[in-house]
Amino acid sequence: MLRTLLLSIVSIILSVATLAAQTPKNIIFLIGDGMSIASVSMMQLVNKYEPTIFDKAENIALQKSYSADNRVTDSAASGTALATGVKTNNTYLGVLPDGTAVESLMEVAQREGMATGVVVTTYLQHATPAAFYAHVPSRHEYALISEQLLDSRLDVAIGGGMAFFAERYGDRTQAEAAIAAAGFTLATDFEATKTLSADCRVLALLADKEVGENSGDYLAQATSKALELLETRGGDNGFVLMVEGSLIDGMGHGNDAVAQQREMLGFMQAIEVAVAYAQSHSDTLVVVTADHGTGGLTLVSANADFTLAEQGVEFRWTTGGHSGEMIPVYLYGAGSELVNGVMENSELGALLKGVITK
Ligand SMILES: [Zn+2]
Repeated sequence: MLRTLLLSIVSIILSVATLAAQTPKNIIFLIGDGMSIASVSMMQLVNKYEPTIFDKAENIALQKSYSADNRVTDSAASGTALATGVKTNNTYLGVLPDGTAVESLMEVAQREGMATGVVVTTYLQHATPAAFYAHVPSRHEYALISEQLLDSRLDVAIGGGMAFFAERYGDRTQAEAAIAAAGFTLATDFEATKTLSADCRVLALLADKEVGENSGDYLAQATSKALELLETRGGDNGFVLMVEGSLIDGMGHGNDAVAQQREMLGFMQAIEVAVAYAQSHSDTLVVVTADHGTGGLTLVSANADFTLAEQGVEFRWTTGGHSGEMIPVYLYGAGSELVNGVMENSELGALLKGVITK
């Protein structure tokens, strides 16, 4: 009897210890806007089936991306699901269909004393990044979203979007004053961003709107800089970083396979940086997913002759809009086993909020 009791106490202690060991301190959440499983498959083919960073995932899951009012989501509703753990209507950001604001992953992290950051290739007021700090019924309210970005407690934000600040605050000079008053150190080019230390909260506005397509290894470098700043600022409490490969979506809307491959490569380099960080920091979870597919990309057999340069495959697009198929989730590092199976996009968001809630 005593022995059984002792054994069960030991097993409880062991399972609690295992749970504690699995709970990550830091989360790096990478979202490929418009990255369908066909986009990932295209990159495997382009890479001649040598393992890509996606192939190196330690665990995988699938998520269903439909929104509260549409079977095919937009980036606002899916961004909200991933950032807050609830499904909402298309175009809504950080609020329920009735307009009630929902706490985001970043806001939970800030409440827990963690450092938070976002890094994107589009403007920071765009739907995906805004879902992590803003609460508005329309993703197009850029003035209000700009205000909410300044009111946010983000430690690091790197992307574009100066034009919307200038519009909101009158002109660029007044925008710079508002940014300084909000406690951010502003950088307007990436070289200047790289020199900033963790003493300040960083707002890098590298372009009027999008940082731009074909930006090479910008996203990887910005991810690396953000990790350096957040690690110091978060200290023992850790950090949450969201990185978006924003323009994969635009190339899908344009049905341009070569341009999408370029954007995918930039995003994959950023994932490599995040995974390398998790390999050298055993307390870090890396989650990679997308908000939805774009362009309805399919890899169809175009020619039976597998010896031809294109290897008999044609990248064919079936729409200029978004698509509603399931989206893969790739996990690396601490707590990879916590996300598994087929889930709603909102379940993934809720799960990540739970992981960092003490
Ligand atoms: Zn889109």
